[in-house]
Amino acid sequence: MKSTSRDIRIRNCFSVLRHLIADYPTSRQYLARETDLSVATVSNLVSDLIELGVVVEVGLERSGGGRPRALLAPNAGSGALIGIDVASTYVKFEAYDLTLTVLCRIEEHVDLSEDMPEQLLDHIATGMAAVREHLGGRPILGIGVSLPGQVDVAGGISVFAPNWNWHDVAFKRLLTERLELDVPVYLDNSLKTVTAGELWFGDGRGVDRLAVVLLGTGVGVGLAFGGDLYRGASNSAGEWGHATVDPDGPRCRCGRNGCIEAYVGAPAILRRWGELAGRPVEEQAQEKAMETLAQAWKAGEDSAVRTVEAIARDLAVGVANLVNIVNPELVVLTGWVTGVLGEALLPELERHLPERVLNAALKALRVKLDEQSRNMVILGAAALALEGHLNLINTVGSRSRP
Ligand SMILES: [Zn+2]
Repeated sequence: MKSTSRDIRIRNCFSVLRHLIADYPTSRQYLARETDLSVATVSNLVSDLIELGVVVEVGLERSGGGRPRALLAPNAGSGALIGIDVASTYVKFEAYDLTLTVLCRIEEHVDLSEDMPEQLLDHIATGMAAVREHLGGRPILGIGVSLPGQVDVAGGISVFAPNWNWHDVAFKRLLTERLELDVPVYLDNSLKTVTAGELWFGDGRGVDRLAVVLLGTGVGVGLAFGGDLYRGASNSAGEWGHATVDPDGPRCRCGRNGCIEAYVGAPAILRRWGELAGRPVEEQAQEKAMETLAQAWKAGEDSAVRTVEAIARDLAVGVANLVNIVNPELVVLTGWVTGVLGEALLPELERHLPERVLNAALKALRVKLDEQSRNMVILGAAALALEGHLNLINTVGSRSRP
C-alpha cells in the first residue's frame, strides 16, 4: 500500500498529539525534539490543530535569554469523545475531553440471554442518554465502539461475534439509526481498540514495532508498526489465538483443534487446574475462579504452581512463534487474565522464551505486563474516534484553500 503525503501528515499529527496529551503544557520546540520532526513541520501541524479546535495556546514559557515560547495543551474545552465497550455481560461507556480526562462513566448490565442486536442497542441507547445528560450541551466529536469478534471496519459490520452467534450484522447503521446520531461512529473489536489505547496512552507510545497480547476468555494479539495499527487485508490480523500448535490438540471455540486459545484461554487454564488438582473447577464464574487460582499460587499450593508452570510453557510457545515472525521490540501482556495471573505467568514465560525465540529477535525484545489502571478497551475505542476526528486536519489550514 502506497503512503500519500496525506497519510504522512496524519501520522505526524498523531505523533505530535500523542506527545502533547502525555506531557502538557509544552512548546513546539519540545514536541519537535520528542517526535523527531522539524520545528517548522510541528509549527505547521500545530497551527492546523489550533484551527481545528484540538489544541490551544495556554501561556508562555520563559527560557534563558531567548524569546518566550508559547505553551500548548490539548483543548479541554472542546467537544467530547465517547468510548463504548459492548460485551456479553455489560456495556460500559466513558466520555472524555481532549486531554483524555474522564468526564463521565456509565455501565449497563446485560443479561447473558440478551443476545439480539436490538437488545444490545437498547442498552446502548439507555447508556448514551445518561452520557448526554452528563455532558450537558457539550458537543460529541465521535463515538468509538468495541465489539467482540470480527469486525468489518469500513462497512461498520459485525462479521462474526461468536458469543452471540451474530453473522454480518450491520451494527453501525443500526446504531446510527436507533440513536438518530449525527456524529461519526467508529466500530472495531477489542483487540484493535486495546492496541490503539496502548499506542495513544500506554506503553506503546513511541514504540515502532508493538505486539499487544490480550489474554482473556479468548486470546489474540494487536499489532502496530510505526505508530499505526496493523489490520491486515480484512481487519483479521492478530487472530493469533487461532494459530495451530497441535492439529491433534484440544478442541477450540472456533471448531478447530489445537489452537493457542485452547491452551491458554481462561477456560483452558481453569480446566488444567482442575485436572492437576484432581477436582472440577467451576468454569461459570471464571473470573472468581481465576482469582482463587492466583491466591493458591501465591500461597504455594502445589497444583496451582504446576498449573502456572504448564500454562506459561504453552504461552511461551505461542509468544515465541509470534516473536519469531514479527520481531517486535515490545510485547505487552494485557486482558483480564493478565490482570489476575500476569504476575505469576511473566517470570515463567520469560524463563521459557529463550528456548524458542531466535537470538536476534530475543536481543531486541522486551516483555512487560500492562500496568495501566485505565480501561484500555474503552479508551482505545475513544482513541479511534479521536483519530477519525483528526483526519479533518486535511480540510483546514492551507489544504482547505485552492
Ligand atoms: Zn481456535
